[in-house]
Amino acid sequence: MRPAFLTFAEVKNAFIFMDRYSEITDKQKREIVLLRGKGCAYKKCLFCDYHHDCLDDENENFKLNKSVLDKITGKFGEVEIINSGSVFELDAKTLDYIKKVCRDKGVHTIHFEAHYLYDNRIPALREDFKGFTLKMKLGLETFDFELREGVYKKGIPVREPEIISKNFDEANFLFGLEGQSLESMRRDIELGLGYFERICINIMCGNSTPVKPDKSVIAEFMQELYPKYKDDLRVDILVNNTDFGVGE
Ligand code: SF4
Repeated sequence: MRPAFLTFAEVKNAFIFMDRYSEITDKQKREIVLLRGKGCAYKKCLFCDYHHDCLDDENENFKLNKSVLDKITGKFGEVEIINSGSVFELDAKTLDYIKKVCRDKGVHTIHFEAHYLYDNRIPALREDFKGFTLKMKLGLETFDFELREGVYKKGIPVREPEIISKNFDEANFLFGLEGQSLESMRRDIELGLGYFERICINIMCGNSTPVKPDKSVIAEFMQELYPKYKDDLRVDILVNNTDFGVGE
């Protein structure tokens, strides 16, 4: 888990040594890889410092990404591919190599992440990956528009859940922030399960941004909501941000 206060240089350095391949053996079994792209096009989410895991050099990125993708065995038929940003920020050679590895290893389902600004490009991505089932995951964080956009600057200028979820199958939520309550988290989970196939709840961990975890909100979640959803097959819960086995 990332310590609470890191300088920018320390954050950059930490990315060099982090784990980039893991297996998720709980609930929806899948392999997971953390690749590197040219960098998040948005970069404004107030709570985020992992967008520093990026490089302009496409050849270096491909070299790293190939070495990580070569670890995929296809044992579960599903792979989650993340890159500290959106799939649209990966280079073309990496995207082609993802297709090759998944075809060769018998992977039928690929999970990608994308920011809402790429919403219009998702149908074309599904077409490009024809032959695979794509599960697109949105970093939504909360349905609470005022908190999400007014405070945390997530960059999703839409309120209606049916519009937000139109091109996405799954969503990430971020809990444990100042301004959240038991009721707002409960509403997020219920709406999330109503509009997405699966949701992933991330509990806010300290990082190098000014946003700090709210211990009382986290305690409420752990006491009231965690017991109810911890065994729900449609809900992943990351109490620590490395619970999927990738990252640092
Ligand atoms: S879109 Fe994702 S990677 Fe980019 S700043 Fe927001 S949380 Fe970070």
